[in-house]
Amino acid sequence: MARRKSGPGIDAQPDTGPDFDPEWCERIRGKLVEWYETAHRDLPWRASRDPYRILVSETMLVQTTVTAVVPFFERFITRFPTIRDLANADEADVLKAWEGLGYYRRARQLHAAGQAIVRDHGGVIPDDPDALRALPGVGRYIAGAILSFAFNIPAPILEANTQRVMARWLAWPDDIKSTRSQARLWEAATRVVPTRDPATFNQAFMELGALVCIPRNPMCLTCPVATECRARELGLQDRLPVATPKAAPLEMSEAAIVVVENGRVLMLRRKPGVLWEGFWEFPTVHRDGPDPARRLIDGCVSTEATLEATMGLSLQVGPVVSSLNYVVTKHKVRMDVHFAIKDSGDLKPGPGHVEARWVDRDEFEQLTRSSATRRAVAALLKAGVLTSEGEWGVLAPRKSR
Ligand code: SF4
Repeated sequence: MARRKSGPGIDAQPDTGPDFDPEWCERIRGKLVEWYETAHRDLPWRASRDPYRILVSETMLVQTTVTAVVPFFERFITRFPTIRDLANADEADVLKAWEGLGYYRRARQLHAAGQAIVRDHGGVIPDDPDALRALPGVGRYIAGAILSFAFNIPAPILEANTQRVMARWLAWPDDIKSTRSQARLWEAATRVVPTRDPATFNQAFMELGALVCIPRNPMCLTCPVATECRARELGLQDRLPVATPKAAPLEMSEAAIVVVENGRVLMLRRKPGVLWEGFWEFPTVHRDGPDPARRLIDGCVSTEATLEATMGLSLQVGPVVSSLNYVVTKHKVRMDVHFAIKDSGDLKPGPGHVEARWVDRDEFEQLTRSSATRRAVAALLKAGVLTSEGEWGVLAPRKSR
């Protein structure tokens, strides 16, 4: 492969590197595993080599921290103790158990993977890389984790922590997300994983990234493999890995309307094929933003007119009782929460929804709710305009001006 100048002023050399030296690989393995024996954390999914627990935990850990995942993992495994329990569950129950963890596509894919394992593999998670990667949501990393952790097969792993560590070990100067970089880092991860006890090595590799070789200010002074690290040798540990900055999120604003009637609240279920598919939310007016399908209906100049046009209900919408900000995909959203009461009209789900329902507090708790809806409820409870045990509508809405 051709060499070229890139990154922080050093050559990108895909055909050389410490991983080409078998003695370097051997030293890295020995030092890392020795350190891991005493430094590792006790995590619930490390207690066994059950491939199902590994599939669940690694799916949860994609784009989510260990600390955040631990309580969700334990609840999920209690609710669905085996792959068959997961496969036989309704998708709504799986999403409910996932509620609060975010990135719900992972939950749907995990559910689909469970069904495929029961249907195509007799309920036994395969130990074959191709069969694993054919499962919904199982990419090269999750397949590597299952193969090495559960079956002790020397498969490489590369996720956020280990790709950072590897880029530093190699002093790899290109954008870490580029195709070229990914190919080079996977190649090195394949070379470094040992045939003897790859499970412990891969766990140690990840643990180093989580505890020592952290994104900012890596702890090189106490690092067990500092003498093997090219970034440290070159003084580049704070400048690697190279990553293209993310684009700034697009700003949007919306109004969530808590419509109350006879102690029940109006909830809408989102239609298939949209973000938060199947989740329940308060009627929401999207005041602006880049998605035309989510903007105010043409010709409607107020929240009331928009809701009447979309849902067939005439409402009295009160002033803002709480505001919150949240980030979803590439959007930074400001949500104003209002109470409202119904004046007249027959309820129908608007565009974007398949079902509309009046629910009491008990029913509300059973619904799988979008994170924005859960945040809105938390804001109302915090603001004291909704009691945790009382009915909806403790604050009488006033006519908006
Ligand atoms: S020496 Fe520093 S940069 Fe290198 S692996 Fe250790 S912590 Fe990371």
